Amino acid sequence: MAQQVTDFLIIGAGIVGITTALSLKKTYPDAKIIILEKEPKLGCHASGRNSGVIHAGFYYSPDSLKAKMTRAGNIAMKAFCEENNIPMNCCGKLVVARNEDEKNTLNLLKERGDANGVPLELISATDAKKIEPRVKTFESALWSPTTASVDPTHVLSIIAQKATDLGVEIHYNSLGYKQYDAAYTINSAGLYADKIAQDFGFSKFYRILPFKGLYLYSDEPAGAINTHIYPVPNIKNPFLGVHFTLTTDNHLKIGPTAIPCLWREQYQGLDNFKFNELMEIGQRQLGLLFRGGFDFRSLAIEELKKYYRPHLVSQAAELLEGIHPSQYTRWGKPGIRAQLMNIETHTLEMDFVMEGDAKSLHILNAVSPAFTCAFPFADRIVERVGALIK
Ligand SMILES: Cc1cc2nc3c(=O)[nH]c(=O)nc-3n(C[C@H](O)[C@H](O)[C@H](O)COP(=O)(O)OP(=O)(O)OC[C@H]3O[C@@H](n4cnc5c(N)ncnc54)[C@H](O)[C@@H]3O)c2cc1C
Repeated sequence: MAQQVTDFLIIGAGIVGITTALSLKKTYPDAKIIILEKEPKLGCHASGRNSGVIHAGFYYSPDSLKAKMTRAGNIAMKAFCEENNIPMNCCGKLVVARNEDEKNTLNLLKERGDANGVPLELISATDAKKIEPRVKTFESALWSPTTASVDPTHVLSIIAQKATDLGVEIHYNSLGYKQYDAAYTINSAGLYADKIAQDFGFSKFYRILPFKGLYLYSDEPAGAINTHIYPVPNIKNPFLGVHFTLTTDNHLKIGPTAIPCLWREQYQGLDNFKFNELMEIGQRQLGLLFRGGFDFRSLAIEELKKYYRPHLVSQAAELLEGIHPSQYTRWGKPGIRAQLMNIETHTLEMDFVMEGDAKSLHILNAVSPAFTCAFPFADRIVERVGALIK
């Protein structure tokens, strides 16, 4: 079969691939851009299965790409939603502490937020209760007024529409990037980004370790609480701990978890089961139990317990008064994080990673908050491509 010729080939029509196409069109308006998507429609993976939180940017150490892009991403994503009449819930967020140690971490998060230019306030427990009367916290809390939420599939579909209006082609049901003759290839394939990068000679020291995020929806009526409520995270891990988020229509949900998966798209039961992935990922996880550069054993034990609904609800109930397991019986659509692991150091990568050369660029570890960061992240990708092809 004759190869299709294109200037840019983007593999993966998630938020990273689609915003990158838009940004390429700004810099190279006449270029032919094709996005390949293996699924029949948008949003089948992380970009359509996330919490939809537009993060503020205070979790990340100031030298990281995440820190540099989250504040800018928050502003850009909100502006995009406003311009395109996409509903947002600008409810802000409280981060709460359970003890003295966690209170100290709140101080660290405030310092990081200040360094990253994020509006934030350290407030007393009494003031936190004025924002959300049901909140539980130890002495103080962190108030983030700029955190918001959106419906991620709505955002994705509008961005895709903008891209196709500018002439970007999205080829669905399409896995075969070898059938294209591209002057430049950008790999933003999410859970498969490491595999594709290896085909191009990259990702030598990295493999994706998938972690599942489960959600439990509340039966409480809309408006049951006023703001997102998050715990203080273990800042050695890239996950934020079980929390409460509000959807755009003000409904409450618990999640997401970070449960290790045995294959990449293990959403439910035997969905998308691949024996070779089970062997590879299972073996890697077994190895991590004995020689992890992070405490995989404790993480896996703690997370696997969250499959048990009453346990997940009891963890969340540490953050809010009046939470009962009987109100939380509906599991939502799970999402899977394409978390990158360094196979030399056996550690989880905390920041976004890009590897490339004059022919291709590979976006690895586009984990949370890559949805929030999408617009500045895409501009950064295009700048990097520009520098590589010079
Ligand atoms: C549970 C969960 C909650 C999250 N919550 C938030 C949040 O609240 N806020 C936030 O900012 N971020 C959040 N994130 C992170 C955010 O969702 C991701 O960072 C972002 O969606 C990554 O986008 P992507 O385009 O890289 O990946 P994806 O959305 O996974 O897109 C990759 C695409 O590549 C396609 N693909 C794969 N292989 C091939 C191939 N060989 N050929 C063609 N196509 C291929 C896939 O089908 C997929 O559509 C969350 C993530 C998860 C999993």
